[in-house]
Amino acid sequence: MIQTTSPSAIRSIMQRYGISCRKSMGQNFLTDKNIIEKIIAAAELKDTDLVVEIGPGLGALTVQIALAAEKVIAVEIDRGLIAALAEALEGVQNAEIVQGDALKTDFDLLVGERTGGMYGENAKKYKLMANLPYYITSPIIMHLLMGRFNISVMVIMIQAEVAERLAALPGRKAYGALSLAVQYFTEPEILFRVPRTVFYPKPGVDSAVVRLSVRAEPAVFVSDETAFFKIIRAAFGKRRKTILNALTGSSLDLDRETCLDALRNSGIDPGRRGETLSLAEFAALTESILKANA
Ligand code: SAM
Repeated sequence: MIQTTSPSAIRSIMQRYGISCRKSMGQNFLTDKNIIEKIIAAAELKDTDLVVEIGPGLGALTVQIALAAEKVIAVEIDRGLIAALAEALEGVQNAEIVQGDALKTDFDLLVGERTGGMYGENAKKYKLMANLPYYITSPIIMHLLMGRFNISVMVIMIQAEVAERLAALPGRKAYGALSLAVQYFTEPEILFRVPRTVFYPKPGVDSAVVRLSVRAEPAVFVSDETAFFKIIRAAFGKRRKTILNALTGSSLDLDRETCLDALRNSGIDPGRRGETLSLAEFAALTESILKANA
């Protein structure tokens, strides 16, 4: 086991393997042991927990997860890193490295295969941890939510500005389609900020660690989730317009009268902007539109 938590240790192992940090893959490695400890504490790991980690890099988090959990399965996209990562994890019996793209991974299937069906769909829940690559933070979060994987909690480090978006409430600048999707499936908490200075190489932005506790049931009832998310996207597609104009001018193909009726039936003033609507109001609106179109 090698502690890859200093720039010199990272440079040294990379030099030996003839590799370098790949900006295009969002490789900014954590170099602060205190922050790593705080991330581990945030996941409240027990020695019976299975953890899936996305983007282990050189294993800075992986090693500490392995020490606290029963097992960690780490999915890393960069083939060039795998041998160096394996060396960093040498002697760590309960860490498995999987080379693959998190965006294309069915995590329930993966953990089912690797645990003989103990975890995954219709089996035990697992935890997800990651210092996510900035360039695909939102797509990965959406993939994790929409995949409805059997995850109990996600502890992720992301750009501070994206963290604000996940937890934002109606009417705030950061409130948008991502906030609604995250809050529909989970209870988000921004735990602490992480300065850019603790990464190697240093990124251009600060980060934050967020805990997303996955809800047993979504926060509101909707009978058609596809329609629900389409309506949300339409509302935010034209942020500055009223909800009525955003809906009628969208790809939803709804006429003005139907929209007006649906808004009134769900108790929403048609002159409001979409960005002021709560999760419950979007749910009510979706049901009214579905009823009108039935
Ligand atoms: N966990 C390490 C740490 O904290 O030092 C590395 C974090 S670094 C911000 C992001 C990691 O995600 C890199 O190792 C990168 O190669 C990997 N990565 C990027 N895109 C990925 C993807 N689509 N699937 C899996 N891993 C990915």
